[in-house]
Amino acid sequence: MTAPLTQILLDRIAAAGPMTLADYMADALLHPSYGYYSTRDPLGAAGDFTTAPEISQMFGELIGLALAQAWIDQGRPTPFTLAELGPGRGTRRADLLRATTGVPGFAEAAELHLVEASPRLRRAQADRLSRAAPGWHDHADSLPDQPLFLVANEFFDALPIRQFQREGSGWRERLVGAESGMLKIGLGGPATHPDLTARIADTRPGDIVEICPAAGPIAAVLARRIAAHGGAGLIIDYGGWRSLGDTLQAVRDHAPTDLLTQPGQADLTAHVDFEALTRAAKAAAPAVQVSQMIPQGVFLERLGITARARALAERLTGDALPGHVAAHRL
Ligand code: SAH
Repeated sequence: MTAPLTQILLDRIAAAGPMTLADYMADALLHPSYGYYSTRDPLGAAGDFTTAPEISQMFGELIGLALAQAWIDQGRPTPFTLAELGPGRGTRRADLLRATTGVPGFAEAAELHLVEASPRLRRAQADRLSRAAPGWHDHADSLPDQPLFLVANEFFDALPIRQFQREGSGWRERLVGAESGMLKIGLGGPATHPDLTARIADTRPGDIVEICPAAGPIAAVLARRIAAHGGAGLIIDYGGWRSLGDTLQAVRDHAPTDLLTQPGQADLTAHVDFEALTRAAKAAAPAVQVSQMIPQGVFLERLGITARARALAERLTGDALPGHVAAHRL
């Protein structure tokens, strides 16, 4: 029997023709009844994938202290928005809030705001963070107009992408269509997109370029808030500087799986194009400063993760210690 979401998508394709990968990804992740994030808590060992904050408390602590330092450096603006995009279970938020209780004035000045699309994960966040009384948002553009200190960990890689394949000196879009009652990827007719014009210079025929339509507008919103009121945004994700190649992947039960056979059952992600985020931020708010990309390990090392790991290790014994050492290496 065809699964309900597959049937919905097949019906839509029969009525309206092949759909973009972004439309496919949007339904597979966030369809209100069958989407991956709508129906389950995907994080942790029992789920399909694990993220850094689920592995060790040190991650959230150091991110929290980095944001608190930025807040101090900017003269402790009060009140300010302490925001997270896609907080998952709220694990890091809890670590972050605990670590920053030692920073005088920080918790009192902070108004906690979470951008989260999944009602199910909102409930998990509410359970974990009830004392901090967070406000929830469907989109970043409703974040308050005030100083913004923000983190987004593995959020942008969950946003839907489109894929374009170069053919000669033009492009065709990779689309999801149907064949023999199954979903199948194929190539559409000649396609254009403003972001592709500059890519003729650094691609070859056959190359795939990914474009994430939702990412730029979000980066623009954050940049405008920060340029107008002050603040800082920390964007942590899988990705690189300028998209090249097919990075769309499906993961289920901690293992790669087929992209199309079980929409809504697997997590779908694609690498984040940090150049595109930077371009959108600069176009929206030329005054905003954007730092260079840095590997996560190097970043955490500079924030002092080794000293923190040693301090925690002194209090651990037995089985907890090897797990802690492994988490630090990760
Ligand atoms: N940051 C967390 C969870 C990462 S999973 C961690 O590191 O553990 C991705 C998160 O982004 C989930 O909370 C998911 O529900 C949310 N999300 C995905 N797409 C979204 C969208 N378009 N708008 C808002 N939240 C989204």
